[in-house]
Amino acid sequence: MCNFIIHVVIFTLTLQLARATCPNIVSRHDWNASSPTSVENITSIPVPFVVIHHTYQPGFCRTHRACAAAMRNMQNYHQNTRNWPDIGYHFVIGGTGEIYEGRGWDVVGTHAPNYNSRSVGIAFIGDFREEVPTDEMLKAAKDIIKCGVERGSIASGYKLVGHSQVKNTLCPGASLLEEIKTWPHWDPLKQP
Ligand SMILES: [Zn+2]
Repeated sequence: MCNFIIHVVIFTLTLQLARATCPNIVSRHDWNASSPTSVENITSIPVPFVVIHHTYQPGFCRTHRACAAAMRNMQNYHQNTRNWPDIGYHFVIGGTGEIYEGRGWDVVGTHAPNYNSRSVGIAFIGDFREEVPTDEMLKAAKDIIKCGVERGSIASGYKLVGHSQVKNTLCPGASLLEEIKTWPHWDPLKQP
């Protein structure tokens, strides 16, 4: 009987560990997203690239309420001004350290030409040319990448790049680019 209980405890702990690898994500429902006008699935999974962005505008947000509003503003701009099917990024990180669901896993994004069908695009809300995101935000990005690898959406040997490495842009900001250069999978790729 005692043995049985120990086995149940170990089994339960193992299950929790297996689940614990993916962080909490603020769902589209929770930030009151509009529906995408179309959805295109990525045909080759796992994807070999992770592309990091900053939003520049909207600026840094300090509360769930402000970050959720920033998500709706971005989605509105991307859908109605840029005519994209949905918010461009796969995941977006707010100043609270919360991860907001953009397009989500295994869907083609609109965030980096030539890389949209072979990368996950992660954006930090704010302007990171001179400042770096908070420790909570950086940890959130690392956690969502780890989750992507473990669920089979991101290749285990993925290359991490800043947007400016694949397009002529200031995104993700000089300070944030310097930060991600210290991360394990950062790749010095440079394509104009
Ligand atoms: Zn960008």
